[in-house]
Amino acid sequence: MIIVLLGPPGAGKGTQASKISETLSIPHIATGDIFREAVKKGTELGRKAKEYMERGELVPDEIVNGIVKERISEPDCSNGFILDGYPRTLNQAKALDEMLAEMNRKIDIVLNISVSEDNVVKRLSNRRVCKRCGAIYHLITNPPKREGMCDKCGGELYQREDDREEVIRNRLSVYRKQTEPIIKYYEEKALLIDIDGNREIEEVWDQIKRAIEGRR
Ligand code: AMP
Repeated sequence: MIIVLLGPPGAGKGTQASKISETLSIPHIATGDIFREAVKKGTELGRKAKEYMERGELVPDEIVNGIVKERISEPDCSNGFILDGYPRTLNQAKALDEMLAEMNRKIDIVLNISVSEDNVVKRLSNRRVCKRCGAIYHLITNPPKREGMCDKCGGELYQREDDREEVIRNRLSVYRKQTEPIIKYYEEKALLIDIDGNREIEEVWDQIKRAIEGRR
């Protein structure tokens, strides 16, 4: 199955994508994670992406499209994959359709996780991420068992630089302007299913499971 997850920053895409990935045994491809890894390693890609990410702006389409094309051509994607944080512009959505058409494949379902702006700010400012395995926590609603330490791998938890309030506001405005138009694009293709992301993690997961079952 090829699944696209849409939704503003803080909608819970990463958390839910991990669950889908485990349940369906398909890779979770998060363009944000790919960029953060590249920044950490100091690669050419990392150097290019860093300035955009720090401001909460989008990395140019041609860079992102190239990376996704390479990644989804890898053998572990042959049974499907979940895209989290991509596409983020109409241009990326169209590029993805072209890549998939070349591979004789197509998107099965687009899950649009909506969440209120108040919740986004609350969630992102309390979000902590594991440096080692990328697991996501929320200090109040989903805290780690031991402060500062990942339950899954014992790695150190940190706050993403772009999870500071002023950057969060900019990311939200970028989302509204550049990413929201994609919702209509997928609606017209009858691929879109709305998910209420304001609920608890397990309740959101129930909605997603039902949506996926309905398409299988
Ligand atoms: P995320 O982890 O999805 O919130 O992404 C973090 C940052 O990486 C974004 O604010 C962008 O700067 C960059 N990024 C991730 N995915 C994309 C994409 N599909 N297009 C452009 N920039 C992206």
